[in-house]
Amino acid sequence: MDWKNLPRSGGGVQPSGGGLPGGGLAVGGGIGGLLLALLAMFFGVDPSVVLGGGESPPAQTQSPAGQAGETEEYEFLDRILGSTNEVWGGIFQQAGRTYTKPVLVPFRGAVRSACGQATSAVGPFYCPLDNKIYLDTSFFAQMDRQLGGGGDFAYSYVIAHEVGHHVQNELGIADQVTRAQQGARTQAEANAYGVRLELQADCFAGVWGHRVSSLANLTPEDVREAVNTAAAIGDDALQQQSRGYVVPDSFTHGSSQQRVNWFMTGFRTGDPNRCDTFSQPYNQL
Ligand SMILES: [Zn+2]
Repeated sequence: MDWKNLPRSGGGVQPSGGGLPGGGLAVGGGIGGLLLALLAMFFGVDPSVVLGGGESPPAQTQSPAGQAGETEEYEFLDRILGSTNEVWGGIFQQAGRTYTKPVLVPFRGAVRSACGQATSAVGPFYCPLDNKIYLDTSFFAQMDRQLGGGGDFAYSYVIAHEVGHHVQNELGIADQVTRAQQGARTQAEANAYGVRLELQADCFAGVWGHRVSSLANLTPEDVREAVNTAAAIGDDALQQQSRGYVVPDSFTHGSSQQRVNWFMTGFRTGDPNRCDTFSQPYNQL
C-alpha cells in the first residue's frame, strides 16, 4: 500500500494533547462512561476481552500539523483521513448532498469526548455528538500482536470503519437505528440493529478501499490484511477467544464471516448502495 500517495486532510487530525487531567480513568464509571456506552459507536473490540482494561500509558503529546517534524504515524492518519474525505465528499456531492468532514483525534491513554471520557481500553470509536473519531494509536500495536496481524491497510480499515459510522450519522441512519433499538422488545432484537449498523460500516470501509485502490496501489496482500482483521474482530472470534463458546444473540458487530463479506462487498463494488444491511432478513446477512 502506497499510502503516501493519498491526499492530506488539511487539518482534520487533531491530537488530544494528552490524557485526562490527573490521569483519571473513567471508562465504565459514572455518567461519562454510561453516555459513552450508549452513544459512541465502537470499532468492535470488546475491551475486556482484548485490552484487559485500565491500562494507561503516559500521555504523549504528538507532533501537530506542521509537516516538518511530524511523525510518520501522524502523516499516515492524516492521509487516510484525507482520502476518506475525498471519497465520501465525492459520493455525497454526486447525490446532491454536502459531506461534513469528521475530525480524527489520536490519543494515548485516555481522552475526553462529547460522548464521555474513554481510555484506550474501549478501542477506536466515533462520537456522533462531536463528529470525531477517537483512536488510541496503541491499538495498532494491539492489532499486530492479537488481532489478525495488522498492516497499514488493516489500520486503514479501522479508520475507514469509524468514518463509516460518521457517514451513517450524516445520513441519519444512526439516528434511525437508535430509535429502532429503543423500540426493540428484546435485547437480541436491539443487538441485531447494532449488527446491521456495524456491518454497514464495514461495507462503507470497503467502498473507500475500492476507490483508493489504484491511487494507493493496493495489492492482494493488502486486502488480505484487512480481511484478517475483519475476521479477527468478529464477535464469534472474540467470544470464542474469551469464553470458549459463542452466543449469537449477544453479537453486536457481526460474525467474522459477516464482517469479511460486507467489507468485501463494499471493496469489490465501490458502491455504497450495495451496503444496505437493513433490508434483508437478519439470518441472511
Ligand atoms: Zn463500529
